[in-house]
Amino acid sequence: MRTCVLCVFSLLFGAVLSSAQTAPPSSVPGEIPIFDLNAIDKNIDPCVDFYQYSCGNWMKNNPIPPDQSRWGRFNELFEHNLYILRDILTEAQLPGKHSATETMVGNFYNSCMDESAIEKKGIAPLTPELERINGIKTKAELIQQVAYLHRNSTPALFAFYSQPDMHDSAETVAYLDQGGITLPDRDYYIKDDAKSVETRQKYVEHVQKLFELAGDKPGVAAAEAKTVLTVETGLAQASMDRTARRDPKNRDHKMTLAEIAAAAPNFDLAVYFADNGTPKFTSLNVTNPDFFKQVNGQLNAVPLEDWKVYLRWKAINDYAPLLTKAFVEEDFQFNGQFMSGQKEIEPRWKRCVKATDSSLGMALGKLYVDRTFGAEGKERTLKMVQGIETAMRQDIGQLTWMSDTTKKKAYEKLNAIVNNIGYPDSWRDYSSVAIKADDYAGNMMRAAAFEVQRDYNKIDKPTDRKDWSMTPPTVNAYYRPSMNDINFPAGILQPPFYGKLMDDAVNYGGIGVVIGHELTHGFDDQGRKYDAEGNFREWWTAEDGKEFEQRVDCTANEYSNFVSVKDDQGEVKLNGRLTLGENTADNGGLKLAYMALMSIIGDTPVKPIDGYTPAQRYFLAYGQIWCQNVTDQEARKRALTDPHSPGRWRINGAVQNSAAFQQAFGCKAGQPMVAQNACRVW
Ligand SMILES: [Zn+2]
Repeated sequence: MRTCVLCVFSLLFGAVLSSAQTAPPSSVPGEIPIFDLNAIDKNIDPCVDFYQYSCGNWMKNNPIPPDQSRWGRFNELFEHNLYILRDILTEAQLPGKHSATETMVGNFYNSCMDESAIEKKGIAPLTPELERINGIKTKAELIQQVAYLHRNSTPALFAFYSQPDMHDSAETVAYLDQGGITLPDRDYYIKDDAKSVETRQKYVEHVQKLFELAGDKPGVAAAEAKTVLTVETGLAQASMDRTARRDPKNRDHKMTLAEIAAAAPNFDLAVYFADNGTPKFTSLNVTNPDFFKQVNGQLNAVPLEDWKVYLRWKAINDYAPLLTKAFVEEDFQFNGQFMSGQKEIEPRWKRCVKATDSSLGMALGKLYVDRTFGAEGKERTLKMVQGIETAMRQDIGQLTWMSDTTKKKAYEKLNAIVNNIGYPDSWRDYSSVAIKADDYAGNMMRAAAFEVQRDYNKIDKPTDRKDWSMTPPTVNAYYRPSMNDINFPAGILQPPFYGKLMDDAVNYGGIGVVIGHELTHGFDDQGRKYDAEGNFREWWTAEDGKEFEQRVDCTANEYSNFVSVKDDQGEVKLNGRLTLGENTADNGGLKLAYMALMSIIGDTPVKPIDGYTPAQRYFLAYGQIWCQNVTDQEARKRALTDPHSPGRWRINGAVQNSAAFQQAFGCKAGQPMVAQNACRVW
């Protein structure tokens, strides 16, 4: 059904663009079912496998579309939003009167959709970048070039950005960080299991192909690809692993510029900062000083010519999705097909809508909000947030393991949380970015450079707590420890997370748990280390801290036993430490939203709907949010890189620990959905 709708409208869309007379009929598919009785597999006992019970038929009836590597309820909604955004962008290109914002996003989208203009340009957009790198004569010029690449948002060698000061969050400061690898995690370069060895081999072949497309002879390109792997392996070996990075103390190294420059002289940081577009500053946070000390030796040992090969690769890789079909396809073959198991590339229009959202999302987002998000949505969400905050207050009050001293501080932190709902108070001004209807690569790079400059401009200034880090159409939500705020973009405040006409049980099991999840992030293994102002500061008594750590250890061990993927290449279990914050937030969110729901329902008997009590509907709504199918390749990649557990364990992991769930479905001790040693933090 979906595929058919898409085919018909792809054709229509092409025709309309050329005749350009009237707006095409909207292609937005109907609303997504929020509580789907047809998704349930009634052959399964909910106390044996609740995920399978909630989602069994959904999984059977919703195979992964060929242009995706993972397909779940989030994706359904995201896809729904893509159609709405496409309508907005298509209309913005039609003749007639348009606002400046409409014209800008319309031109951007057009530049991406105009594949024949892109083919005609060939590799011309990339050529000046490669020439700049070829012209490097000294290591000082190498660092200048890295600064230039960073200003244009091309990642290379290390990372530089701004963020709130870890100890004085009111002030934003400069951060110097590890970086420069291309594969999604350092482990790909370091591990010696068969899959990692295969990945490196495929990666080298891929790098060679892109060098060839950029004009190098096969023999030369093959040697260059090996050089790239050697250089990146050195960077990977110097990098801190993901799990260690979750602990803020491992990232907390305030230094003066002079100190880090002296510790890693070969980086020529004075040259890097001389004209990199930042305001002048004297101190910064170096997230991983060891990276700079270790790579300092590599900078000296690796010949300049090899560094130039590496930088050329970083530029080619960054530009590949913006260039001709040959580049785009090679990029997809490796990153989409091999790394994620995606069978087909997404249709051009989807990629172009996403590119517009990622480049000009705070302009496109305004048009999206105007069309979809009413004040009513904001009010109802805010009311739920307040109810769930009240539940957390009660929950903290009831804890037997936490002293009153720490509780007082916890209340302070909870009361200070800022709730941002829907979209930012003021819209970003992109008027300084030149957007042309026939220059896709140029548009992408100028928009990216604009964001880098916006980020640099924040250095040594008061922190802007109103700045959002997700665009309004995004189907997601986030908590920022350094801001102590929770943020819900308009994109997620709709079915299947929230339905205007649905009963409270279903809405609390959907968006309610998401709210409780974000709130709990302020008090997970990472978030608890930040205070009410967002400063990295101990506010727990030593005794309470110990009690907390025991409880999260339980969760970490529990999830480490869950199998993420099992295929002919072996079994991969979840990393309970990497996913600890998210699992803690899932367990806490499920408890808090339930408490808030029960305080609304009170003692008044509520009739079952569709044969389910409100409590059962609550847990089922939660279960169905996480229905998903995923390729083995994508599951493997995520087991290594994603701090979230896969859908199955987000459900079964959390309900196993929930007495309210077990009561709702009458589960008995000894059944799989009743953990022998239930873990409970919040
Ligand atoms: Zn989360």
